Amino acid sequence: MRNSEIALIFNQIADILEIKGENPFRVRAYQKVVRVLESLAEEVEEIYQTRELKNIPGVGEGIARKIEELLTTGKLQYYEELKESVPSGLVELLSISEVGPRTASLLHKELGIKSVKDLEKAVRKHRIKDLPGMGEKTEENILRGIELLKRRKGRMLLGKAYPLAQSIIDSLKKLSEVDRISSAGSLRRMKETIGDIDILVTSKKPAKVMEVFLSLPQIAEVLASGETKSSVIMEGGLQVDVRVVKPDSFGAALQYFTGSKPHNIKLRELANKRGLKINEYGVFKIKSGKKVAGRKEEDVYATLNLPYIPPELREERGEIEAGQEGSLPKLISLKSIKGDLHVHSKWSDGSDAIMELAEAARKLKYQYIAICDHSKSLGVAGGLSERDLERQIAEIRKVNEKLHPFRVLAGSEVDIRSDGRLDFEDDILKELDIVIAAIHTGFKQDRETITNRIIKAMKNKFVHVLAHPTGRVLHEREPYQVDMEAIIKEAKRTGTFLELNAFPARLDLNDVHCRRAREEGVMVTLGTDAHHKMQLDSMYYGVATARRGWLEDKDILNTLSLKELLKILKRN
Ligand SMILES: [Zn+2]
Ligand SMILES: [Zn+2]
Repeated sequence: MRNSEIALIFNQIADILEIKGENPFRVRAYQKVVRVLESLAEEVEEIYQTRELKNIPGVGEGIARKIEELLTTGKLQYYEELKESVPSGLVELLSISEVGPRTASLLHKELGIKSVKDLEKAVRKHRIKDLPGMGEKTEENILRGIELLKRRKGRMLLGKAYPLAQSIIDSLKKLSEVDRISSAGSLRRMKETIGDIDILVTSKKPAKVMEVFLSLPQIAEVLASGETKSSVIMEGGLQVDVRVVKPDSFGAALQYFTGSKPHNIKLRELANKRGLKINEYGVFKIKSGKKVAGRKEEDVYATLNLPYIPPELREERGEIEAGQEGSLPKLISLKSIKGDLHVHSKWSDGSDAIMELAEAARKLKYQYIAICDHSKSLGVAGGLSERDLERQIAEIRKVNEKLHPFRVLAGSEVDIRSDGRLDFEDDILKELDIVIAAIHTGFKQDRETITNRIIKAMKNKFVHVLAHPTGRVLHEREPYQVDMEAIIKEAKRTGTFLELNAFPARLDLNDVHCRRAREEGVMVTLGTDAHHKMQLDSMYYGVATARRGWLEDKDILNTLSLKELLKILKRN
């Protein structure tokens, strides 16, 4: 058990004692230990193994016994009983920044408030302002605190969290006091949603780094500030923790805080078998305590006889075994992408002209983009009629004459109607360079109906790609009931490519489906579904998801040069 975990429990004990109106000296004794634990350089666990716990300042007989119980059993009977003695929601009230133990206890006694939900109701009915010591301002503050708490609990899309983290890192990087800096946690693993952001820094002047961090303008609330660790809530609700670590522990800390937990547990087991101990400070020989790695992350893996494992793979999904066998994939990277295969123009619901999009794509060093506007039955999205499409093809030809050798592919995101028929007849589909088919209505069909509907569309020989195959929109819409195993098998059978839609709220295929596609030998296409030229940049998140899905260059259609791509699209 780590110091921070023990501190958290003692902090809760202090809070509960205070809510209950217990002896203030006892409350303060626990609070003091919490502060000591938070600033202690050595792990309590280590002290326990070598010396008396009572050597720790502020730790007396009683608290030493409680720490021992926590270290040996992972639990504390006293704490468990104490928790039972107050409504659990009451303790949660304390996680609202405006509510301290005394207020919580008052709210409970006067208004019977037992949870955050109760409190929110009471505030909205203005029942708080007339309590002793409170007022309208208090109500406003509490409400703001509740909003922050709610946002804090939610996860944020990678597409939002990543730029935010990058801007913080960029601000800190500028400091001459910062030597090394990196994100860690789920953000570094590029998960589709992010709980909070961890940033690790090495510096000879940690105080200066923290000072600059805590004065960043986007900060809504400072949760904790210290020499080696500070936590804040940003505008928008995301929590950001910055830790300053020692240079000779940076690699170990990076490995440790990047996770995932299951990946790290597995590494720890491997280390144990080799007589090694691995933690955030380094890799140590168990017998002698001698440190054998820590400065570089590669070295941490090397001590376990493993190659470096890219963060996106660290989910304990076979990456450690693959490392041992030397069969880790050579993951795709953004610079391998030669074009974007799903872009909307202002012909349908996009906002830019084809020429503008093409110019933007050339700036990204692409060789091609595919304009795939919506088809006629999608009236709400400005779907194109057959006539429109023909006129659009003519415009694309003109653009291509100007931009040669860059190439705009004439495409369509043709709607799969509810019975599985396509929105356009074959005679117009065959005029197009690329056809991507997708569902935009009838999401509630049952599993069999919707799966057969999609399969019927995939059987059309002019359909190259199935776009956003599960239809999910993160935080908004669950995937439809489609049987993805059946779809992947059908893709293999019909030679249909499956899209990884890189729009940050979609990332559909997800990482797991990407990996299944690869295992079945189905190629994936990357498309941003950009409706604005700025959104071409979301390719980055698509690539990240592809990497999480173990995809290599050869698994992705748009790593091909224009010439190779056209050959494959024609053959289809
Ligand atoms: Zn679509
Ligand atoms: Zn689209």
